[in-house]
Amino acid sequence: MCLSSPIPGQTTNGKGGTNTPEVSATNGGPCSLGEGCSSRTNGDLKHRGRHTKLDQATTEATEQHTKDEDNLGYKEENAVYKENNAKLETKQQEATVNEEEEEEFKPQIRWPDLIAQTFLHSGALYGAYLLFYAKFYTFLWVVVTIWVSGIGITAGAHRLWSHKSYNASLALRILLAFAFSISGQRDAYTWALDHRIHHKFSETDADPHNAKRGFFFAHVGWLFLTPHPKVAAKRDVIDMSDLEADPVVMFQRKYNVPLFALCSIIIPVLVPWYFWQEDLWMSFWINFNMRFTWTLNVAFFVNSVAHMYGKRPYDKNIMSREAPIVSLLAMGEGWHNYHHVFPWDYKTGEFGSYTLNVTTGFIDLCARLGLASGRKVVSPDMIKRRAAKCGDGTRFLSDDYAHKDQVWGFGDRDLPREDLAELAKMQN
Ligand SMILES: [Zn+2]
Ligand SMILES: [Zn+2]
Repeated sequence: MCLSSPIPGQTTNGKGGTNTPEVSATNGGPCSLGEGCSSRTNGDLKHRGRHTKLDQATTEATEQHTKDEDNLGYKEENAVYKENNAKLETKQQEATVNEEEEEEFKPQIRWPDLIAQTFLHSGALYGAYLLFYAKFYTFLWVVVTIWVSGIGITAGAHRLWSHKSYNASLALRILLAFAFSISGQRDAYTWALDHRIHHKFSETDADPHNAKRGFFFAHVGWLFLTPHPKVAAKRDVIDMSDLEADPVVMFQRKYNVPLFALCSIIIPVLVPWYFWQEDLWMSFWINFNMRFTWTLNVAFFVNSVAHMYGKRPYDKNIMSREAPIVSLLAMGEGWHNYHHVFPWDYKTGEFGSYTLNVTTGFIDLCARLGLASGRKVVSPDMIKRRAAKCGDGTRFLSDDYAHKDQVWGFGDRDLPREDLAELAKMQN
């Protein structure tokens, strides 16, 4: 609820009514000032007369301010269109039309993307078959490139650039941008933008891979279907100023295509051919298609499996789950119920074990080397409170901490102090 409360402000600014008519409708009650004012006491209303001019001046100042920058960090100069009355009216008319269209929204197949995904996946199967005939070093090379590109996604695009859960030095950011380019998952800016939308509007029409639309859509369908209009609308309102100020991110975004060709195709394919004379044909299917598709699917598992199968110890009201198998494959990104509740925690999970959270180990190592700092965590008390309030009751049941708060009976020194006080009262 709190997540969407800034949006009505957005509707009144330079974006016109195009983006969020639905939000205004749903949040109008608690967030709208209009209703509250009319129901005030006579005393309050008396003051309103005296304050009219002042209010008007304040409103004008506020309007001027929201034209420059709203409370989401939205910048008017970056807007696709600039606000003026004529355009605003046109946009409002369009919004009405869009509302009608939204109800009838039917996703269309984007054929070039579907063909690309079909090529990647069928080529990956062929690559997996060829791996049986490849040189041993080629196999090792695949593992290394999967691991390095995986760190680029998890420690880079995800925990650093999407969530700002720690700070990275320039050297580390360059390293992560290079590693992320190997993964071939577009540019880190676009990745982080979609991921921020996914968190902020999770499991709604505005979620790019809304898990409520089924496993297949959340897994891969969203990549070759036209996005819901609300997804496109939300792309305009997410604050990305921090990434726009990062020259490494903007460089990687600007040169995304040549970087993709170099880091995701040329280097992975040519290294085995040049250094240990692997067959070039085999190297292509294994080191591009298979390696690329594997990483892609592991990332997809977080959107599909970790939103559908598993426990919800921290908040049972959201779809994201704790999925240890996804954590194993995705270097620690499967603790997804925790992550959606506390997205600023650099560990993306409650516990510090590196076995099912390799990325946390990597960030801790970087911190020791002086490359990372400001790692953000959540206090045990905050976790406990949230789990008690919203969790499904499974916190601690399936790990080393199981039964940590259990006692053997009366006289156990681990009995909580409040319980002891109450017991003492009952005995008197
Ligand atoms: Zn996230
Ligand atoms: Zn998620």
